[in-house]
Amino acid sequence: FPIQVMEEKVIPVRVAIRCRPLVPRELAEGCEPCISFVPGEPQIIVGTEKAFTFDYVFDPATEQEEVFNVTVAPLLRGIFNGYNATVLAYGQTGSGKTYTMGGTYTTTQDDNEVGVIPRVIHHLFNGISQRSETEFVLKVSYLEIYNEEIIDLLCNSKDRLVLSIREDAKEGIKVAGLTEKTVCTAEDMVRCLEMGNSSRSVGSTAMNAVSSRSHAIFTISVEQKRGAQRDSYCCGKFHLVDLAGSERQKKTKAEGDRLKEGININRGLLSLGNVISALGEDSGKKNHIPYRDSKLTRMLQDSLGGNSHTLMVACISPADANLEETANSLRYADRAR
Ligand code: ADP
Ligand code: MG
Repeated sequence: FPIQVMEEKVIPVRVAIRCRPLVPRELAEGCEPCISFVPGEPQIIVGTEKAFTFDYVFDPATEQEEVFNVTVAPLLRGIFNGYNATVLAYGQTGSGKTYTMGGTYTTTQDDNEVGVIPRVIHHLFNGISQRSETEFVLKVSYLEIYNEEIIDLLCNSKDRLVLSIREDAKEGIKVAGLTEKTVCTAEDMVRCLEMGNSSRSVGSTAMNAVSSRSHAIFTISVEQKRGAQRDSYCCGKFHLVDLAGSERQKKTKAEGDRLKEGININRGLLSLGNVISALGEDSGKKNHIPYRDSKLTRMLQDSLGGNSHTLMVACISPADANLEETANSLRYADRAR
């Protein structure tokens, strides 16, 4: 868009911490909370460690709506102004990534429980209905990266091909052969989400930890045309990412596939950490950003840094039993700032 001449300084990455409540299993096991909060400050204290400060800190009482309004709604405003946006949910398995992102959404879910993606869809279509002077074309894709392979979640599993990432001069990063559904209504888009969510969980029954070891990326591409000749054009991408569990792979005697799995998962999260921390360094000097080190960072290449707004939500458990993983997650998130 000609109107979008960097009138706003783009802050590469904002980081939110979200601590969920103790879950019934933790309560039954007698876990105690080991996280404390500083009222009115975006700070968090783990055990007896020093306080960490982030852009936002959400305690266990924080509702889905508040998390969305404070952190994601501004990214959606950016999309209408021609910026790309990426939301990344990070954390150990069971910390609340899928809950936060809305990866278990069904139309019968209680309104208060609805996570980020369905809220993005709802607000996106609201925003569109208020912009009758603009013509919109919306496309959705939903994929999973597992073992450095791309799985199309909007395609029947029997029709799935091996997909590879290409860079297109006009459209930027593309996955060749990936299903892209053109959608006209919020209901259509929600159906894509539900369809992909169910492919994800079907895949995971066979090997019960697949979903915790894969990155799921729901992408909405938003094309806008304005002007009498429809000659004012822009296209933005909104990536909503439920990352693989951040827990250290336990050292086992596993060989072959399982071993390869552990190593590759670490590759995505490791290179994401490297990319984000490189983006945070002084942009005065053109430093090398190692996007090519993993499928995950390659996929997100044109949506991390540059003209993009990125939010990382690091999800944590309050339980003392998880103290070590929680401290690791906070260190990872701290490095992203
Ligand atoms: P992950 O995707 O990180 O493995 P989940 O999103 O599946 O974790 O969350 C694990 C459990 O904790 C689920 O039962 C989920 O409903 C619950 N949970 C997560 N976050 C919250 C929250 N903020 N409030 C209430 N329950 C939550
Ligand atoms: Mg999950």
